[in-house]
Amino acid sequence: MPQYNPPLRDMQFVMHEVFKVTDEFKAIPKHADIDRETIDAVLEEGGKFAAEVTFPLNISGDEEGCTLDRKTHEVTAPKGFKQAYAQYVEGGWPALSCDPEYGGQGLPFVVNQCFYEMLNSANQAWTMYPGLSHGAYEALHAHGTEAQKKLYLPKLVSGEWTGTMCLTEPHCGTDLGLLRTKAEPQPDGSYKLTGNKIFISAGEHDMTSNIVHLVLARLPDAPQGSKGISLFLVPKFNVAEDGSLGTRNGIYCGGLEHKMGIHGNATAQIVLDGASGTLVGAPNKGLAAMFVMMNAARLGVGNQSLGLTEVAYQNALAYAKDRLQMRSLSGVKAKDKPADPIIVHPDVRKMLLTAKAYAEGGRALAIYCTLLLDKELHHPDEKVRKDSGEVVALLTPIVKAFLTDNGHIATNACMQVFGGHGFIKEWGMEQFVRDNRINMIYEGTNTIQSLDLLGRKILGNNGATLKKFGKLIAALIAEEGVNEKMAEFINPLAYLADQMTKFTTELGFKGFQNPDEVGAAAVDYMRVAGHLVFAYFWARMAQVALQQIAAGNTDRFYVAKLQTARFYFAKLLPETATLMRTARSGARSLMETEEALA
Ligand SMILES: Cc1cc2nc3c(=O)[nH]c(=O)nc-3n(C[C@H](O)[C@H](O)[C@H](O)COP(=O)(O)OP(=O)(O)OC[C@H]3O[C@@H](n4cnc5c(N)ncnc54)[C@H](O)[C@@H]3O)c2cc1C
Repeated sequence: MPQYNPPLRDMQFVMHEVFKVTDEFKAIPKHADIDRETIDAVLEEGGKFAAEVTFPLNISGDEEGCTLDRKTHEVTAPKGFKQAYAQYVEGGWPALSCDPEYGGQGLPFVVNQCFYEMLNSANQAWTMYPGLSHGAYEALHAHGTEAQKKLYLPKLVSGEWTGTMCLTEPHCGTDLGLLRTKAEPQPDGSYKLTGNKIFISAGEHDMTSNIVHLVLARLPDAPQGSKGISLFLVPKFNVAEDGSLGTRNGIYCGGLEHKMGIHGNATAQIVLDGASGTLVGAPNKGLAAMFVMMNAARLGVGNQSLGLTEVAYQNALAYAKDRLQMRSLSGVKAKDKPADPIIVHPDVRKMLLTAKAYAEGGRALAIYCTLLLDKELHHPDEKVRKDSGEVVALLTPIVKAFLTDNGHIATNACMQVFGGHGFIKEWGMEQFVRDNRINMIYEGTNTIQSLDLLGRKILGNNGATLKKFGKLIAALIAEEGVNEKMAEFINPLAYLADQMTKFTTELGFKGFQNPDEVGAAAVDYMRVAGHLVFAYFWARMAQVALQQIAAGNTDRFYVAKLQTARFYFAKLLPETATLMRTARSGARSLMETEEALA
């Protein structure tokens, strides 16, 4: 059976020692009083909830899956899910970072980020039920009418109801401009929605008394394409003005998908049969309103893979210390045993360190992003809010695509550490691989994230936001450029930053002449950008570790951090050279292939 220990020490290192979050919060009136002890205490309890309540349901939920009663259209989640959810609500966990005006605890996003990383490690399928509610909360909070907010936000914040996002239809996933679900205005100001959605996560279940669906649909006179999409709130049960539940609405589950992973989460086909809904935001501006939810969800999906990378690493490490096979190439290590533990073998260590470096680098990036989110929304200085928002927008596709691709690499590597046993269900390793796989697909595939990064976020503004991130790198280089001990980290970072500028300009020029050049290079570019960001955070983590060691701190944690940083720079970062080379080879070998793909 797999095990999970919440990585609280590493979270504390990133939050308090690298980013000094409580110092940053002093400049944000809303969080000025938050102290380290409060953050750590909440996360310690959160870690217990993840490890003791939802983690034990991970394998059983995968084996049992969800069931649909075709007569009532009701879905039952796997055994124990409902009880765990009740405990989650009772503990006040849904409200952590929500607005106190609606019953939230108003804690910084960084707390919720770390809590959700642990929930994802423990049980991604279960975590998606409350996880989707957070996106619905954000979208309604930003774009809902006062009446919608008053009626729905307190229930989402308390966790009494959950939320969904209903975008995808059978013929349209990436290209939402094709969607057909209709919304007809009614005399009372509401709308009647008709259509079919598919692949709706947490779309139906028995864990709460109501479900708040956020649905994209078209008004009768809507323009074609993505400019004619509006957003609607469609509850499973209609809600009276006093918040009590009324009649069953015409929105129900027509079927459940049978899928590769996240079996414990209901992926529902949703039928809208004249369902009653209300408009969220302005008519035909639904995509903009939904983007609030999608951006939150994109960071959330990166966090899912971060969680799986961590838990897969922990289990592979324990196994590698225990499993005896062959002797070390450099001489017997465990003389009292018939063979050495496999952790002595260089390639096993490489697999373990790959997962560790991706987990810890990903954690730094994810925590940094949520710190920026708090600044974007709550900092008193308008320039700080604007700059923070721009950098979050730049980093969001990187969190989504780089962390989920890394999750794929890491969970596979950790399964490989188990040899044949990794392929056998009872060890739990193959489930981490299967569960992670969807993270590269939903919320916009990683290809679409790459196009968003290179096409829109970077070339779209002539690299202006990339330069903002570049300034952070330049500041670190200026600070540490003369420190010999930091040279092994600063030199490759500076080299890559310089290469990246040239690489981006070159792709911009080629893309201007032939847009397929951008499409051909985007996925490689994404990984290079991801590594640039990771190299920066790994250098900062190494900097703190070196400072602590120099100050005489004997905690082995800092030595481990430094060793992992060295591994990252030596073995993972050099991938960027190959990626830049393949990107530079251009679009021709892809596009002039009519015969090859005939
Ligand atoms: C388990 C699961 C849960 C999901 N949960 C939800 C949910 O809660 N709500 C919801 O609305 N949806 C959900 N989805 C849907 C998911 O977001 C879509 O599957 C995803 O966005 C891709 O759309 P698609 O499947 O239609 O693929 P398509 O859009 O048909 O894409 C097929 C392939 O073509 C590529 N492609 C498409 N366009 C381009 C382009 N311009 N350039 C390069 N490549 C391109 C894609 O990257 C992909 O590889 C879920 C899906 C699954 C499987």
